[in-house]
Amino acid sequence: MLTGKHVVFLGGDARQLEVIKSCIQMNARVSLIGYDNLQSPFSGASLKELSTEVLSKADVLVLPIVGTDEHGHVSSVFTSDTLILTEEHLSSLPAHCIVFAGIAKPYLKDLCARYGIELIELMQRDDVAIYNSIPTVEGALMMAIQNTDITLHGSICLVLGMGRCGLSLARVLHAIGADVRVGVRSSAHHARAFEMGFKAFDTRELNQHVKEADLIFNTIPAPIITAQTLSHCPHDVVIIDLASKPGGVDYAFAEKRGIKAILAPSLPGIVAPKTAGRILARTITQLLKPMELQKEGNV
Ligand code: NAP
Repeated sequence: MLTGKHVVFLGGDARQLEVIKSCIQMNARVSLIGYDNLQSPFSGASLKELSTEVLSKADVLVLPIVGTDEHGHVSSVFTSDTLILTEEHLSSLPAHCIVFAGIAKPYLKDLCARYGIELIELMQRDDVAIYNSIPTVEGALMMAIQNTDITLHGSICLVLGMGRCGLSLARVLHAIGADVRVGVRSSAHHARAFEMGFKAFDTRELNQHVKEADLIFNTIPAPIITAQTLSHCPHDVVIIDLASKPGGVDYAFAEKRGIKAILAPSLPGIVAPKTAGRILARTITQLLKPMELQKEGNV
């Protein structure tokens, strides 16, 4: 239980609702900033204005997945107010306060470092990335089905990258009956692909392998599908780019060649916000366990 702990939520989207629910269930005192247009308010939480006074009493501060922008702007889909987390706000947090965000821009990282505040970037964690690959893969399948006139079964699907997302995606496409060919660069990934029954090729030879592709799913966060690669692709190939912005495709050249290439960011929040929220809730509450133990005098 988080009895006696004050958890402040500043901004967010549907994913935060699951985290709020979990904190209330764990008996934390919950304050919500930037939630004034919430359709069904939580009975165990109070709405607050952004102020140093509220933040000075926070044990935990939960920010949206994107944290802040480069100027401290915090987004919230539940308010029309502008929320700016300033240096004054950050400096008012107690030294023991833990700040959670999905990812943090230098603005937030620098401020937390300057004031000795612990910052946890949830999306950098392996466990969160692997759990998140589940809704990401479902979203990728949805996009593939919506944007093709063939079944995935029997289609030639290239999956570029065999990290947390690529591996989950290749496995599901293979199970659906697609002819999966994985673009990798390490011998360990070659071996794993072989073991799992996929064909593997070296990404340096990508241009030779795109020629037969019906679909290309990119998970490599680097400019991998270049103009030269696109010039080897069939004109009716569909490219679903999962890599974070700006993605891995030369979009200007794809458009010039009439190739359908789609940058598909933030799929978990789009296709399964509740599941995505539960993943965050589970991880945050797990990470707050030491606080619980301290309270109970067990450490
Ligand atoms: P990851 O585990 O780090 O996997 C990335 C893969 O790309 C690794 O296999 C890595 O190979 C490979 N790679 C990186 N640079 C390469 C290069 N220059 N040439 C060849 N291979 C290269 O990352 P992830 O968690 O799967 O996420 C992949 C991307 O998707 C990230 O940009 C992430 O932000 C994004 N993402 C998007 C969504 C969405 O909804 N669209 C959801 C989750 C994640 P090595 O292992 O050999 O380094």
